[in-house]
Amino acid sequence: MNAATNVIGTTPWYARPRVDTAPAGFDQRLAQTRETLAIAAKHAPCVLASSLSVEDMVLFYLVALDALAIETFALDTGKLPAATLNLWADAQTKYGRAIVRVAPDTRDLAQLTSTQSDSAIYETKAARALCCDIRKTAPLRNQLAGKAAWVTGLRRAQSAGRASVPQQAWDAAFGLEKFNPLAEWTDEDLWYFVDREEIPVSALYDKGYASIGCDPCTRPIRYDEHPRAGRWWWEATADTATGTSTECGIHVAAPTLNTNDTKATA
Ligand code: SF4
Repeated sequence: MNAATNVIGTTPWYARPRVDTAPAGFDQRLAQTRETLAIAAKHAPCVLASSLSVEDMVLFYLVALDALAIETFALDTGKLPAATLNLWADAQTKYGRAIVRVAPDTRDLAQLTSTQSDSAIYETKAARALCCDIRKTAPLRNQLAGKAAWVTGLRRAQSAGRASVPQQAWDAAFGLEKFNPLAEWTDEDLWYFVDREEIPVSALYDKGYASIGCDPCTRPIRYDEHPRAGRWWWEATADTATGTSTECGIHVAAPTLNTNDTKATA
């Protein structure tokens, strides 16, 4: 099983939106996003956790545009698609800002690879969860330790499981403030802004991919599938249509809403 050949057949692929004019209310949502990022930057040290997704590229661009004191990092799981690695290098060059590489612990990774094969992630949920824990969650936890806040590209429109994502919340799982400045952005907002500002994004978005993670766990989707249906698709069952089963564990903890210092409407 691999990302390139699974279940597409002759059915049309997903195609990302092309939007020539600003969606209604876009200017207000953009202003709110920039305001939320500025508030996040005051929670020093604050970091942007980037997966090199289209959302994270928008945030990386806005952080650079407003010269905010928010360091960006990305988890190099060792399983990222070549297109993601290429984008990583290109984005750093274009904006003159680093995307710090965060890698799994060497000994944990050696333990993982010595006890389960690469294909074990398709065989049991426990094997998949262990891989995500060692390659993603544990390095993320280490990177967030000692930080006051982190910024993510979560949006309510991405899935039913993210439908109530707030602009700002206390993240009890990692013990710091969590900001989601794109929480209210639609797909149209996102792609309109990417094209308008010529923000670099993964080449995979033009090859049927709507959501991109590690190469073994991401596939293109048909035009009628949920945008996150291409993530860990072999585990998805009854909730495939809503995307509620397609999370790796990094964002599943329920947030505690905090409206003390933001004007966000969440
Ligand atoms: S997304 Fe897949 S390859 Fe990446 S860490 Fe999780 S199980 Fe491993």
